[in-house]
Parts: sequence; structure tokens; C-alpha cells
Amino acid sequence: MTLFEQLRKYSAPAALAEKMPGNACRCLACAHKCVIAAGGAGVCKVRFNEGGTLKAPWGYISGSAPDPVEKKPFFHVLPGAVTLSFGMLGCNFKCAFCQNHRTSQVLRDPACLAGSLEPVTPEELASAARTAEAGLIVSTYNEPLITAEWSAAVFREARKYGIRAAYVSNGYASAEVLDYIRPHVDLYKADLKTFDDEKYRKTAGGKLGKVLKALEMIHAKGFWLEIVTLLIPGFNDGTAELEALAGFIAGLSGDIPWHVTAFYPAYKMTDRDATSPATLVKAREIGLRKGLKYVYTGNIPGRGFEDTCCPACGRALVRRRGFKVLENAVRSSGRGTGACPGCSADIAGVWS
Ligand code: SF4
Repeated sequence: MTLFEQLRKYSAPAALAEKMPGNACRCLACAHKCVIAAGGAGVCKVRFNEGGTLKAPWGYISGSAPDPVEKKPFFHVLPGAVTLSFGMLGCNFKCAFCQNHRTSQVLRDPACLAGSLEPVTPEELASAARTAEAGLIVSTYNEPLITAEWSAAVFREARKYGIRAAYVSNGYASAEVLDYIRPHVDLYKADLKTFDDEKYRKTAGGKLGKVLKALEMIHAKGFWLEIVTLLIPGFNDGTAELEALAGFIAGLSGDIPWHVTAFYPAYKMTDRDATSPATLVKAREIGLRKGLKYVYTGNIPGRGFEDTCCPACGRALVRRRGFKVLENAVRSSGRGTGACPGCSADIAGVWS
């Protein structure tokens, strides 16, 4: 059975869809909002129109693993918690630098080899999360928006065990999908890959304006949001672009953590070096200057740039080394946030 035949088998009628004239459907699961004729598929290739009914992925995973929450990365959510992470196949973007291309790009690029699909029920995945003593269950490895109905079903089961749910996403969301997942998803990691519309269009196949709109909505609808920018030499590491990008996030809220992470040559982008520590430090300084309270740089151990510090008194509250939490001094504020035990300042996030 080919991969496409398997995906036809592992599918169910989509909730995030509307009927269009002539047996066509409009998919509402991401900001592309594809109009799909009968027999066709959307940009992501995993949602397809079968005789006038939009079908969406259901009943399988491409893999799952217990991961630390810091690896997602969430730095303001239950430090040290175990997550059960799972993924399916496909993506609504086509980034040349994708770090998960084996699962996300396999449907448009046969050179990416996904393993076999594993049939599973939402109950079984939720039960696996409980067995792993996971505090969180995370849809990741491929783009979760394009499989929103499936993740909602899994998260509904996981919530019965008191397990919180998260998306690790490129953030190319529609208003409809955010409203659909909001009852089930607490935490949202989104990318902001560049602040240049042409680069977004050419590299990812999306529009900057729609990404920014989605980030505004994610924040406004009350998801806990952390934003990641993979810093790629010669692509998005110019000072003016980073200032504009950080300024946008700070305009949403200075409490939103911004992770600037290092690029390594991968997939189709092998024509440049890895990101230098100096570039990561530059981005961090720009973020702080623009008003962000929490800016994290991966891959520079020992300098304290992975620690969560109190924005008021500067005390290191969560000390990390890579994905390992060495100390967590954040206390409950009694106001739904964390608090610094030294000066009582609020520390935004989900701490208990
Ligand atoms: S999830 Fe996005 S890319 Fe896929 S069919 Fe729906 S609107 Fe199109």
C-alpha cells in the first residue's frame, strides 16, 4: 500500500470544513483556507475531498516519545515536566530548512522517508501519556493544525487524566481552527520565521501578514504562547529585521517568551554555516532592548541565557543546562501566575 493509500485509509470526515458549490469544500484548518474540488487535496496533501466530503487524518501516528517540556521548547510551563509527544505526517509549509522533514515533507518529497504508520486510538494515546506520567501531551513532529480534529480527540481523552495539552506549530492558524482547539489546547508554541513577507512566501509558502494575525489571535484567545525564531545566517539575522520582529512580539506582550535558536545545515539548506553564538547573543540583546522580558538562546551553555530570571530584580529563578532543570524557585503568586520569591514580581506562565 502506498503512503497516499494508507493516508486515505486513516481518515475521517473533517469538522473544519464548509461545503462549496459543485461538490467542492473549503478547508478551515489553517490560514491557507484551501478550496478543494472533488478528488483533490489541499496544500498540505493530507486533507482531501472525497465525493464532496472533506476528509482529515485520523487514527494513526508516525511516532511518539516522552520528551522534556524544555525540548518543545516551553520554558514557562511546568519546568522539568515530561511530555508525551506524538506526530502524524505532512505540513502546510515547505521550508527548505525543516528540521522535521522526514515526517513533515514526505508527502511532497519522496526523498524523505517516513516510517510505517502506527494505528492508534485517542484513548490509547491518552493512556500512554498517563503511563509515562506525562504532565503534558503534545502534537508535534509535523504541523498539528492540519490534523486538528485528531489532536482534539486525543486531548479530550488526556484531559480526563488531568493532562494538559500543547501545540508545537508553525502558527499558520485560521480563526476557526483556534476556536475549535481552544477548549482542548492550553499551550501554543509558534514560529515566527522571518519578518519579511517575500521570504515567507518563497521559503515557507505562507504570508507574513497571516502569521502575524494568527499570533495576535493565539495570544488574545488566551493560549499560553511562546515564540521561536530559528536564526539562519544570511536569511533572517539582519539587525533591522530582528528589531522589527522582536518589536512585534513585544507589542503583543512583553511577557511572551522568545526563543532564538541556532540553525544547523539541514534538509535542502546546506549552503551556509551554523548560526554563531555571537548572532544568538545579538538577537537576545535586541529582544531585551525592544521590551521582551524573557529571551532565551539555545546552544550556548554556561552563560545563563537559558535561565528564567526575574524581570524586576534579576534573580535567576529557573536555572537550566540544555533541557535539564537545575533549580526552580518560582512560587505561586496566588494571581494565576508565578512569582519571584525575592521581590514578589509576577512571572508569567503556567507554573503549577
Ligand atoms: S489544513 Fe491548510 S493546507 Fe491543508 S487543506 Fe486545510 S487549509 Fe489547505
